[in-house]
Amino acid sequence: MKIAFIGLGNMGGGMAANLVKAGHSVHAFDLAEAALSAARDNGCETFHEAKKAVAGVDAVVSMLPNGKIVKAVYENDVIGHAPGGAVLLDCSTIDVATAREVIAAAESAGYDMVDAPVSGGIAAANGGTLTFMVGGTGKAFQRAEPILQAMGKAVIHAGDAGNGQAAKICNNMLLAIHMIGTSEAFKMAEKLGLDAQTFYDISSVSSGQNWSMTSYCPVPGVGPQSPSDNDYQGGFATALMLKDLKLAMEAAETAGASTPLGRHAQEIYDAFAEEHGGLDFSAIIRTL
Ligand code: NAD
Repeated sequence: MKIAFIGLGNMGGGMAANLVKAGHSVHAFDLAEAALSAARDNGCETFHEAKKAVAGVDAVVSMLPNGKIVKAVYENDVIGHAPGGAVLLDCSTIDVATAREVIAAAESAGYDMVDAPVSGGIAAANGGTLTFMVGGTGKAFQRAEPILQAMGKAVIHAGDAGNGQAAKICNNMLLAIHMIGTSEAFKMAEKLGLDAQTFYDISSVSSGQNWSMTSYCPVPGVGPQSPSDNDYQGGFATALMLKDLKLAMEAAETAGASTPLGRHAQEIYDAFAEEHGGLDFSAIIRTL
C-alpha cells in the first residue's frame, strides 16, 4: 500500500519505519527537518508539504501533538487532498470532541476515518508492539486494522468515532490513580518499618496487586526493570501523563461523569510537572 505518515516524532518515527518494514511505501511529512532525515534513513520517501505527501495514497496515518494541530492538518491538508477512497487513521492522543468533529468532517467528504490512539511508549512504537484503541464505523475499522497490525500487537475496536480516545483517557486516568496509590502504599510501608521488597512480595500476590506495582514499580530495585531503576529517566513522561489527565477531566466534565480521584490525580501531577515534567510519571513517589 501507499501510506502517507504525518508527524514523525518520538512515536511516529518508529511507527512509520514499521510500515516500511511491513512492505508499505511510506510518504512521510513532518515540520522538522531532523524528523524527515531520520524517516529517509528508515526507508520513507519524504515530502516538504503535507498536501503532496497525501496525493495518490491509499491511507493516511497521523501521530501529532494535540487536537488543534490534528484538526488543522486534516482540514487544510488531508480532506479534499488525499484520494477519495483513502482511509484516514489519526493515532494521536486528542480530546474526544475534536476526534469526533474531524471524523465527521472526513466522513461528510466521503472518507472512512478512525481515531486510533495508542497505549505503549516509544519502545513499543519502535518495536511494533503498540496497543491501538480504535473508534469508527465497522467498515472504517476493517480497513484500518491491517495497517495498525503492522505497528502493534493488539488492535481493538472500541465502538463509534471518538471511542478510541475515550478508552485511552479512561485507561490513563486509572493508571495515574493506581500509580499514586501504589506509591502511597510503599511510602507508608516504609514509615511503618516494612521493607519494600517484603511489602512487594506480599502485596503483589494479595488484593493490592496492580500494574503500577508488578510491571512498573515506582520503588527502585523492586519488581521488574522499570524507569525507577534508571533514576526515572525514559518511560512515560509526567508531562504526557498530565496531558492525558487534562483530556480526561475535560471529557468527564462534558459527559457529566463524577471523577473525584481523577481530578485529585490531575492536581497532584499538575504540581509535580511544574518542575519535573520530563521525568517518568512513576517519579510521583518522590513527592510523598
Ligand atoms: P513528538 O513531539 O515527539 O512528535 C510530534 C511530531 O509532530 C514532531 O516531530 C513535530 O515536528 C510534528 N508536527 C507538529 N505539528 C505538525 C504539523 N502541523 N504537521 C506535521 N508535523 C507536525 O510527540 P510524540 O511523543 O511522538 O507524541 C505524538 C502523539 O502520541 C501525542 O498525541 C502523544 O500524546 C501520543 N503518545 C505519546 C506517547 C509517548 O510515550 N511519547 C505514548 C502514547 C501516546
